[in-house]
Amino acid sequence: MQFQSLNIIEPILKAIDEEGYTIPTPIQEESIPIILRGNDLLGCAQTGTGKTAAFAIPILQLLSRDRTYVKKRKIRSLIVTPTRELAIQIGESFKAYGRHTGINCTVIFGGVNQNKQTSSLQGGVDVVVATPGRLLDLMNQGFISLRDIEIFVLDEADRMLDMGFIRDVKKMLAVLPKKRQSLFFSATMPPEIIKLASTILYHPNEVSVTPVSSTVDIIKQSVYFTDKGKKNALLVDILKDKSIKTALVFTRTKYGADKVARVISKQNIKAEAIHGDKSQNARQRALNNFKAQTIRVLVATDIAARGIDVDDLGCVINYEIPNIPETYVHRIGRTGRAGAEGTAISFCDATEKAYLKDIEKLISKSIPVIDDHPFPLMDHNPEPKPKQQQGRGKQGHARPKPSGNNKQKKWYGKPKTTR
Ligand code: AMP
Repeated sequence: MQFQSLNIIEPILKAIDEEGYTIPTPIQEESIPIILRGNDLLGCAQTGTGKTAAFAIPILQLLSRDRTYVKKRKIRSLIVTPTRELAIQIGESFKAYGRHTGINCTVIFGGVNQNKQTSSLQGGVDVVVATPGRLLDLMNQGFISLRDIEIFVLDEADRMLDMGFIRDVKKMLAVLPKKRQSLFFSATMPPEIIKLASTILYHPNEVSVTPVSSTVDIIKQSVYFTDKGKKNALLVDILKDKSIKTALVFTRTKYGADKVARVISKQNIKAEAIHGDKSQNARQRALNNFKAQTIRVLVATDIAARGIDVDDLGCVINYEIPNIPETYVHRIGRTGRAGAEGTAISFCDATEKAYLKDIEKLISKSIPVIDDHPFPLMDHNPEPKPKQQQGRGKQGHARPKPSGNNKQKKWYGKPKTTR
């Protein structure tokens, strides 16, 4: 199918073509017609399969179709997302796909001075992409009104509706117009969240192009059992492989991220850390350095787990296994994007085996074990006592060659030119 068959208007088709997209991805093919009809939507698709364009393209089209020429633009669409980096990225996508439509977009996020954001709001905007804290803050200060919102999007909807953000979302819902279109998207959707979402959405269409919470097959996953104290050495050993051009390493804590970044920097591997205790400028700088490949390794907490799109990121390493299985799906989804190959390696010590089991249950896959490595797990019963778990048998897999950044085009044609 071509984008033309989705009845997309010329200015957007032109921008999509400039991005290098030739055919819509499955989530785009299914979601765009539903959104253009004005229906609510609960959309689930694997990481890196084009969810942003699946909502950005039809929103831009709806807004430019019904454009009313008023003196000052009103905010007609609001996209809320959990992290600042993701908000910035979604804003860039709106600007790219909407560049010939005349629809404008502003990104609102915390950790930076608000003046630039408020002055662009005062100039009038059609679309706001925001993180919840700064959005509510600017609403309280009277810079933002949600009165005219026609289309409301929760990106990473399961995260937005969980305990960390639900109170903020409820505050927004209380002031959003009752008559509106609501679109919720994520790669993971725990059942209790689907239940909650269905109380907010109005007769939603559900689009789930692959099993919910599944991982894309193109990501080569593996697990290394090792002791906690050997993880640094194992990481350095793995990074000796020069075919790993860039790696995103996830740790559970901010302190851990700094420490791992320090350890590998000492081994002459260019690395930086990104986490919530860094200033927003430092966060953005680290991410940009990583995207530009001026550093080889970015060590991150889960603020980088969702949505972030880094071209040619070939390898994700879970230095620690996440205790929430959905987080694993999002973390490894930073690689294997847009049909490119990817490798996801996880280090698992004895205390983390239970988390690994939960992950395998969620993704309905068993992750191959690599056991010919120099730092095997010795201490099977470290203190504090782990949850009673069955050990995994050795499966004798060879260490996989990280895939680097060979792009294998799957559902699209010529490579995109800009972003
Ligand atoms: P997303 O899941 O929205 O973060 O998108 C993942 C990646 O796929 C991004 O790098 C997009 O630029 C790219 N992408 C989205 N839609 C298409 C398409 N139809 N054809 C080619 N690439 C796409």
